[in-house]
Amino acid sequence: MNLISKLCLPTRTSYNIGVRLLSTEQIISREAKYGATNYHPLPVALTRGKGVNVWDTEGKKYFDFLSAYSAVNQGHCHPKIVEAMKKQSEILTLTSRAFYNDVLGEFEEYACKLFGYDRLLAMNTGVEGGESACKLARKWGYKVKGIPKNQAKIVFAENNFWGRTLAAVSSSTDPSAYNDYGPFMPGFVTVPYDDLAALEKELQDPNTCAFMVEPIQGEAGVVVPSDGYLKGVRDLCDKYNVLWIADEVQTGLCRTGKMLAVHWDNARPDIVVLGKALSGGMLPVSACLADDQVMLTIKPGEHGSTYGGNPLACKVAMASLQVLVEERLAERSERLGEILRGELRNLPNSVVKTVRGRGLLNAVVISEEFDAWDVCLKLRDRGLLAKPTRGDTIRLGPPLVINESELAECCNIMRDTILSLIK
Ligand code: PLP
Repeated sequence: MNLISKLCLPTRTSYNIGVRLLSTEQIISREAKYGATNYHPLPVALTRGKGVNVWDTEGKKYFDFLSAYSAVNQGHCHPKIVEAMKKQSEILTLTSRAFYNDVLGEFEEYACKLFGYDRLLAMNTGVEGGESACKLARKWGYKVKGIPKNQAKIVFAENNFWGRTLAAVSSSTDPSAYNDYGPFMPGFVTVPYDDLAALEKELQDPNTCAFMVEPIQGEAGVVVPSDGYLKGVRDLCDKYNVLWIADEVQTGLCRTGKMLAVHWDNARPDIVVLGKALSGGMLPVSACLADDQVMLTIKPGEHGSTYGGNPLACKVAMASLQVLVEERLAERSERLGEILRGELRNLPNSVVKTVRGRGLLNAVVISEEFDAWDVCLKLRDRGLLAKPTRGDTIRLGPPLVINESELAECCNIMRDTILSLIK
């Protein structure tokens, strides 16, 4: 009896370098049996990725039009980032911040010079970056602005999304994010997005320490604000001595056609939160960038994370940023984004009601007669993976390394899929 039959493995089994590959069905049913049920993935089970492509367990190839929610801007398994990860993983991976390591400072210096800030605070997931930004803002509110103890207020935009912690859901206006998770964080208020008059009212409160906002709202369905909104946010924050926190976790790092989406308005936030593509899909790395007067308000022992700033993450983050710069992915994102939106706008508007986005962060709104989930299943069948966000909206964000002929192929897939719906 060989090892495989001893293990009673399912008959429909393929082998790859000695590793048993399960079928899509088997992968889905195992997760359904043992996993928490907090996600509803599209039924496709991926086993490999390279550049703009991913492959399922049966070997079918797809274009990835989600890019892990913009975490793999540099493409799947980018060789330079993989190399940095492999190399550092054999040298030193984690020291905690109880001791110095020889890479954290190198990353901090590189990123501060690249983005033009005095200091960087390294964390892990995007939501921790957002939490850290809120803590920095509150600390600044008490120590610098002089807000009375425990009275600091942070303003958020309606339909924001910055993660799933209790603080993040406390600022959420989406019932599926906050229902049954109360009581909520006090001192959080929301105003409509892209509404400077509503924002000004909240900023007038002397206890307001910060306004946190996504330059383009990603999870809300790629909502692009009016031209000049971010500049207006900057001016109002200056006028009322309030910190502006830009959540660039999804929009940053070349996704929208600029290194940071705030650059579209030539605006400089007080705190920038980065995550996702900061590690090109390798491991969670996030960061806050700020100047001395904000960053130095937090003293030793007042904030931290065991893995934050670990040498492995720092090497990966540096390689990820270098790829964005060296491969000029901001320019490519801007140029190909124009082409993509042009093609999408030629699709029949009986199916595609709206097209919006910047660079390669885009979305189409599907008309009520059709179901966005079904459209995504049909796209999957033709070899393109995308996922609805907010019901009727499909986000389209391929890795930024996509080239023109691949994009043309993807546009054909989308056109054929949409036309097949109205035949
Ligand atoms: N901020 C924005 C704008 C996001 O889109 C997300 C995740 O989608 C986050 C923060 C949270 O990042 P993470 O899931 O890594 O915690």
